[in-house]
Amino acid sequence: MNITFEEMKQWDSKDELKDFRKEFYINENSIYLDGNSLGLLSKRAEQALLDMLESWKNLGIDGWMKGKNPWFYFAEKLGELSAPLVGARKEEVIVTGSTTSNLHQLLATFYEPNGRRTKIVADALNFPSDIYAIQSMLKLKGYDPSEHLVQVESRDGRLIDEQDILFSLNEEVALLILPTVLYRSGQLLDIQKITQEAHKHGILVGWDGCHSVGAIAHQFHDWEVDFAYWCNYKYLNAGPGGVGALFVHEKHFGRTPGLTGWFGSKKEKQFDMEHHFTPAETSGTYQIGTPHIFSMAPLLGSLGMFDEVGMEKIRKKSLHQTRILMDLIEQELSEYHFVIANPTEDARRGGHVSLEHPEAARICKSLKEYGVVPDFRKPSIIRLAPVALYTTYEEIFQTIEILKKIMKEKHYEKFSNEREVVA
Ligand SMILES: *Cc1c(COP(=O)(O)O)cnc(C)c1O
Repeated sequence: MNITFEEMKQWDSKDELKDFRKEFYINENSIYLDGNSLGLLSKRAEQALLDMLESWKNLGIDGWMKGKNPWFYFAEKLGELSAPLVGARKEEVIVTGSTTSNLHQLLATFYEPNGRRTKIVADALNFPSDIYAIQSMLKLKGYDPSEHLVQVESRDGRLIDEQDILFSLNEEVALLILPTVLYRSGQLLDIQKITQEAHKHGILVGWDGCHSVGAIAHQFHDWEVDFAYWCNYKYLNAGPGGVGALFVHEKHFGRTPGLTGWFGSKKEKQFDMEHHFTPAETSGTYQIGTPHIFSMAPLLGSLGMFDEVGMEKIRKKSLHQTRILMDLIEQELSEYHFVIANPTEDARRGGHVSLEHPEAARICKSLKEYGVVPDFRKPSIIRLAPVALYTTYEEIFQTIEILKKIMKEKHYEKFSNEREVVA
């Protein structure tokens, strides 16, 4: 069965999300497949940021309590609006910090070594920043990371075998920290099952949702996930350096945060200015200092779209687009030695397709010269992320046409096979 350009056009015309593309700033001379690294700007996100500037312009200090979105409650409001994306109660999510700083906060709160239970289990393929945070927290608490950080190895360098994760759980483990979707191979782990199994051993579980929030639906509350953290600038299109978010299950409300600051106070008490900390009774307590209002504002506009569409339709289109992308790779590129490195089953893959090739770095440069924006991850991965809200089926087809031309003409050979400084 041959996939044709005609068929792609039909999928586009039938696409129930097609109107959302018009809400984004799209460079029509290029094909953007990097929304899993930095999502594009939407008009609603832009307007939300302009509105915040307006309230500063017109209200000065009174913007904290007045205006369209009073700054004092803005992190809580965004948390409430983000909650449906992760299947949380509204008080369980707060928009604050960054992925890495939130992990530091959550480790400081939930890593409580006790007797023989001192270890943190993570995986050997996770994003480096998560691992740095774990290593530094172990050191701060007086433990040697080479002994107390256990990294579950990958058997093939791409995927983590879930059985290997389960085998690593025992009575010496205090915490399990994993990505929902692995950033390189796009493998989606079974969040519910792993969480349940860890709990049987008395282990708390924290999930990094950077590559799944906004691409996949979650049920963090019902799955009894202890905590989670993610960034909002990837699939959620909140802009470069956009403020991140965290989830703490309500069963843990009442704990004192490991890192305290006045914005984690109970709201009514904060301005009492007492030297005795009164924590908020929600995830809001994990905030530290004054919220970065302008780096949060775009998320407000962006979340409006997710609310209108719902994660079910987004995931459905995303799975369909990545399926077509994989089928086209097989159909058109079979002679060029690409390996599809992501799991191919729907239940096990995230929002991007991960293509492996020994010449990946320069193939990416070549794609960019032809107006396709993928991204490269060391040592040999090309990540291609069609984003349900703005990528068309035509673009997916064109991408593969361009890639085929590059391979056929060896256009990539004019570049060096090394990554850029930011890649
Ligand atoms: C994008 C990403 C990060 C980035 O962390 P920041 O603190 O936002 O810079 C961390 N971990 C994972 C898994 C990511 O995908």
